[in-house]
Order: sequence, then C-alpha cells, then structure tokens
Amino acid sequence: MILFFIIGLTLGSFANVLIRRLPQKNINLWTPSHCFQCAHSLSWLELIPIISWCIQKGRCKHCNYSISLLYPLLEGTVAVSFIICFNFSPQLLVACLLSLLSYFFILVIVIDFREKIILNWLNIAISITILCLQLAEHKDISLAFLSTFITAFVGVGLKTAFVKIKNVHALGGGDIKLMSALPLGLEVQQLPY
Ligand SMILES: [Zn+2]
Repeated sequence: MILFFIIGLTLGSFANVLIRRLPQKNINLWTPSHCFQCAHSLSWLELIPIISWCIQKGRCKHCNYSISLLYPLLEGTVAVSFIICFNFSPQLLVACLLSLLSYFFILVIVIDFREKIILNWLNIAISITILCLQLAEHKDISLAFLSTFITAFVGVGLKTAFVKIKNVHALGGGDIKLMSALPLGLEVQQLPY
C-alpha cells in the first residue's frame, strides 16, 4: 500500500507537468521543470511531491514567486486515488489498471477544466485501460464495441439536437468520444443506467 502511495505521489507530480504541456502544440515533456517567474531549473530537492511545497511554504526558493496550492493538491489526490484503488481491488493487476484509469480521469478533469478540451490520446488511453480491465476480470468484451457504437450514436444525436433546437453547442467532440469510451466497461443492457 505504501508503494502505491509513493507511486501515486510521483505520478501526481508528473501530472502537474502533463496538464501544462500536453495541450500545447509543440509538446516537450522532457524539458527540466523550472520556475515560471525566474526560469530557474528546479533541483530534485525542490521536486519532492507535497514535501517541497510545504518546506518552501509555497514559494520559489530563488525569486519568492508564489507556487499554486493546486500542485500539492493534485499530487495528494492522485496518491489517495491510488490507495483507494489498491484497497478495493481483488487482485494486484486490477488495482494497477484501476489506478491508471483514475489517473487518466484526473488528467481529463483538470485539463478539461483549464483548457476546455478533452485530448484524443486520453480518450484512447481510457478505452485501452477499460478493455484491459475487462480482460483482467475475465469478462466477455465481444459486445463492448456495440455499447460504444450505441453511445456514440446517442452522443452525436444529442449534439445535433441541441444545435438544431436550442442553437447551443452543449457537447463537444471530446465529450462524445469520452462518453463512448466508458461503455467499453458495461454490458449493452446496462447502458440506460
Ligand atoms: Zn523563481
């Protein structure tokens, strides 16, 4: 469980990088982390999840620039979600896949909130993880794509209806792709719920 917590903290720290850099056109995930104010590259001591923020009292060591509370909050949220997945899973593989799924959902929520976009690769990652989860639990996935097709059809229908009747764009393409990915974990008869 402690290992899950530590991995969660580390991936939570990496999530802070992903939510800033993934929506950019020229994605570069491997540039060293730096202060947004003074551009000073951060040492490993300044990158310890939650602890660095607390020790530095939420400020850059070099220029005193305020570092948002959202950084440690996101790290803590990912770590707690990993612990929950670990505690509620019958086996380690399922725990790992559920943790990964919760990680992708957290990324979707934060990036959607900040940028109003749901990235295609996150929808693909969620779809693949749900399918792996179904296989890990020995479930039949032969009809999974039928559920996805039906949901996509309903999503496109709703989007078109909102535009025609109310003249509003209530659903984006990313929303429809996400809601079509989720039923991969459901049986067709569970769809209405
Ligand atoms: Zn600074």
